Amino acid sequence: MRKAARIAMVLFLGGGLWLAFKPGAVGNPRLSFLPYYVNEFVDHMDFWFNLLAFTALAFTAWLAFGPQHGTFEKAINRALWVLGIITVMNIMVEVVQSSIPGRRVDQADVWAGMLGCVLGIFGGCLVQRMMNRRAQDGPPARVLFVDQTGRLGGAELMLLDIAAARAADSEVVLFQDGEFRTALEERGVKTRVLPLGEEAAVVDKQAGMLHALRAMPALCGLILRLAHAARGFDVVYANTAKALIIGGPAAWLARRALVFHLHDIVSAGHFSAMNRRALIFCSNYFASAVIANSEATQEAFIASGGRAELCSVVPNGFHITDEVPATAETTRVRESFGIPAGAWTVLMAGRLTPWKGQKVLLEALKAVPQAHVVLLGDALFTAEDHAYAAALRAQAAEPSLAGRVHFAGFRTDTRTFFELADVVVHASIHPEPFGRVIVEGMLAGRAVIATKAGGAAEIIDHEQTGLHVAPDDANDLAQALLRLQKDPALALELAQNACRTARATYGLDAVQAKIEAVISKSAFPDIKATPAPAAAAA
Ligand code: UDP
Repeated sequence: MRKAARIAMVLFLGGGLWLAFKPGAVGNPRLSFLPYYVNEFVDHMDFWFNLLAFTALAFTAWLAFGPQHGTFEKAINRALWVLGIITVMNIMVEVVQSSIPGRRVDQADVWAGMLGCVLGIFGGCLVQRMMNRRAQDGPPARVLFVDQTGRLGGAELMLLDIAAARAADSEVVLFQDGEFRTALEERGVKTRVLPLGEEAAVVDKQAGMLHALRAMPALCGLILRLAHAARGFDVVYANTAKALIIGGPAAWLARRALVFHLHDIVSAGHFSAMNRRALIFCSNYFASAVIANSEATQEAFIASGGRAELCSVVPNGFHITDEVPATAETTRVRESFGIPAGAWTVLMAGRLTPWKGQKVLLEALKAVPQAHVVLLGDALFTAEDHAYAAALRAQAAEPSLAGRVHFAGFRTDTRTFFELADVVVHASIHPEPFGRVIVEGMLAGRAVIATKAGGAAEIIDHEQTGLHVAPDDANDLAQALLRLQKDPALALELAQNACRTARATYGLDAVQAKIEAVISKSAFPDIKATPAPAAAAA
């Protein structure tokens, strides 16, 4: 629409200027190719023709450059600009025309121009309003979700629920194939893989300038392919940092709104300096909204230079269910790992990567007699993660731990594992952006111990809904474990409080509604009420 209005505006402007300055414009006849009596008529109707021409010019200028959204104040401001620019042009044309022998400034033309301008802008406002109404009644925004990985991390599990709820109006682009694509397709989400070149795939969160330069050709190719794909959608929704860096320019090229879902703390612990700068630049320049998964994530984003007005906090959401895995299944899984019946069991769920702190838990376990630990999760992303997993296995084989640490690998039946545990531990040594596993532990009715940093510190109320411990402090963690091991009544009380709180705070429907509001606001900025996608509403 804007494009068509701009073309029409240029045609009106060009036509008007040609008529004003065309050769032979000196005196009458004004339109040499028309019969004399028509020219006479045109001369008499001069004021009205000017009025009509300027109305059309201002109308198209408003549709081309007027605000599509915003306040009344903003609209008045823009209207004054359009009126001012066209009037200055109008007067300049009259002044230049008056230098042509036989022509003089025609004040009536100037007045006709100004009046036409006001009428045109008024008409433009009315049409804009009508178009917005129609968009409001129309279908929900079409969203192209973009994620860099084919593996199932926390960010991907959140996206799985969001995309599945609006599958009819969405598609997901992944830069890597894997079990995430399978999970999306199983839930009816159209998914396509646009692979990163090998050079670009190795650029991770800690990458430096050299890696980034080498990856540039592959990144540019991917940006163009993504821009092409984005044309069929209203919004591009980047779910990871790499998706933002590629999806941002792609959305800009395709002239589509960009929403960035920030699942990471933008800090030196999680990103290299170059990646931090790129992430903040792309957010500030390309995104119309940034969704942070916790207050801590939002604070780090703003502290790193991110625009505060873009950012809102929406926590992760979870299916709230009363269904519990059958006891027989829980017992079977316990036995399959060789955990003795009745052994006090600690679960730690999350990918095996140094900052998640599994090493700290194993260290703490040495001081907790007879306790067993189940490590649920695998090394997902980097070579460093795989080396860390190997080091953990070596640590678990130490005599003081042998037989008490069980590696479950990556599983999709996570609820069974929460069920078999007495206590859930979260031990990240860097601030956790959100910490899904903490909420999952709470929803499963387990006492949770979590490190006091980042999003984890926001989820748990110390001594009420769980226990906080200092990050990277095996001794502190051991003390908290011993406390709960010796005091099952305390563990039960914390667990019950936690379950109530988590059910009230992290329901998927409410979280999805908030995300949908951000998407709609980005796609249809003029509309106050947000249309719900068919699938989500169902
Ligand atoms: N998870 C899983 N299978 C596993 C281990 C973990 O499905 O074997 C899930 C876990 O239940 C949680 C997510 O992976 O939903 C991890 O999210 P979290 O926010 O804790 O960490 P992230 O991976 O986002 O850093």
